[in-house]
Amino acid sequence: MSIEHPSFGRLADDRVIIFDTTLRDGEQSPGFSMNLEEKLRMAHALAELGVDVMEAGFPIASMGDFDSVRMIAEQVRGPVICGLARSAPGDILRAAEALAPAARKRIHTFISTSPLHMKYKLRMEPEQVLEAVSASVGLARQHTDDVEWSAEDGSRTEPDFLCRAVEAAIIAGATTINVPDTVGYALPEDMARIFTMLRERVPGAEKVIFSTHNHNDLGLAVANTLAAIRAGARQVECTINGIGERAGNAALEEAVMVLRTRHDAVPYANNIKSEKILKTSRLLATITSFDVQPNKAIVGRNAFAHESGIHQDGMLKNAATYEIMTPESVGWSKTSLVMGKHSGRAAFRDKLRALGYGELGDNQINDAFVRFKALADRKKIVYDEDLVALVDDEVVRDHQRVRFVALDVHAGSRGPARAELELEVDGVSHTASANGDGPVDATFNALRAAFAHDARLVLFSVGAVTEGTDAQARTTVRLEEGGKLVDGQGADTDTIVASARAYIHALNKLLVKRARTEPGEMGQARLKP
Ligand code: MN
Repeated sequence: MSIEHPSFGRLADDRVIIFDTTLRDGEQSPGFSMNLEEKLRMAHALAELGVDVMEAGFPIASMGDFDSVRMIAEQVRGPVICGLARSAPGDILRAAEALAPAARKRIHTFISTSPLHMKYKLRMEPEQVLEAVSASVGLARQHTDDVEWSAEDGSRTEPDFLCRAVEAAIIAGATTINVPDTVGYALPEDMARIFTMLRERVPGAEKVIFSTHNHNDLGLAVANTLAAIRAGARQVECTINGIGERAGNAALEEAVMVLRTRHDAVPYANNIKSEKILKTSRLLATITSFDVQPNKAIVGRNAFAHESGIHQDGMLKNAATYEIMTPESVGWSKTSLVMGKHSGRAAFRDKLRALGYGELGDNQINDAFVRFKALADRKKIVYDEDLVALVDDEVVRDHQRVRFVALDVHAGSRGPARAELELEVDGVSHTASANGDGPVDATFNALRAAFAHDARLVLFSVGAVTEGTDAQARTTVRLEEGGKLVDGQGADTDTIVASARAYIHALNKLLVKRARTEPGEMGQARLKP
């Protein structure tokens, strides 16, 4: 069934297309929103990782979404850049406009096909839905040869109607047919039945790529993905760290490592450079301020930790006793000492390159070096993890309107705590001092005095990057404004400085979110291009 695809040419029978939707399905879930710069940075990382298709956003959804898809289409090369659109002509034209600068582009259009969704959500008759499928795919094809059509709530769609809808999409020119388990309800055998049926019954099925998109509400997203591949699906829709609506999507790192580790049983090929998985996962966690749980497969802190004596003994004799894949194959390296305070800039740059940050600009390296020197002064041992936390922090903060400059705090058991803070807002210095109930409270009060805002602090948490009393603190601050939540993260050996950095990070995200939901103020609130 070797297929001639408009974007990939002739595809081998065993080739699985990796379609990443971290920036669309992932980004639209609560707390995971990213600004333009963050999305662009993530998009470059996904391209380096080797994803085949990158769903960059939903251009009609907001100006922010449109701008980020457009900028990714302009600047990111390698993957096919994809934009999502409902079946309405306005959606499709907006997607086409945002994708116009891409070297290779895909429009992904969808409509619900389940009885429940057609009746209550769309309020459309099945025949009207079929007409919308033909019209939307036909319109998308006028803008690109690479068109994906999705049957939303496909896993709960009547089999006969699903076949008719897929046939309509193929006739109208769709080249990829996606059948999502939108609500995370399906079992692996449902996936097998659906894809087998479509390939057997729908005329023209041999000319298109079938795609699977699974949600993890019952913890079955990756299992369902594998079942779909075995039944003939050749595109997997997934996200880094499994982020996405509700319980999330199938995790890219898990699906890819199943295919690699169990190639004996699931013999399918893909183009992911697996040793870049961890770096990509960490970048997403830093940008969104959400760490993965420690026991998360592949990328969790404990994923390769062997704690029990029996396991450790076996590992020392032969790693294969308890290790089904090597930590290095997904980008883990043994914790190693790095330079101390006498290390120079060249060594620092070399180290960053070894850690996978070869693409940083001179300004970013210089800023990170200054902070590294300050860190090395205060901390006896600087680990790779410290450098990664510091550099990610630096990169995420680049291009933000509010910047931390300096902080002095007086704290202790006598009298109120007092903080003196200096910020830079759009390049202009702002200073303020304030008292508070403890040093963190005083610092946050000074922040509110230096940069007036109404956001409410709803969460503040502190953790350590590595072990020891001189470890860097990693802090998270969650702010709420008008029902919108944002999280910010900061790292520093001084917990109070880390707290100020986290607060400022959250504040910057809030400014971006405001701009996004108040299109009228877009111009003034917009970040520098
Ligand atoms: Mn989804």
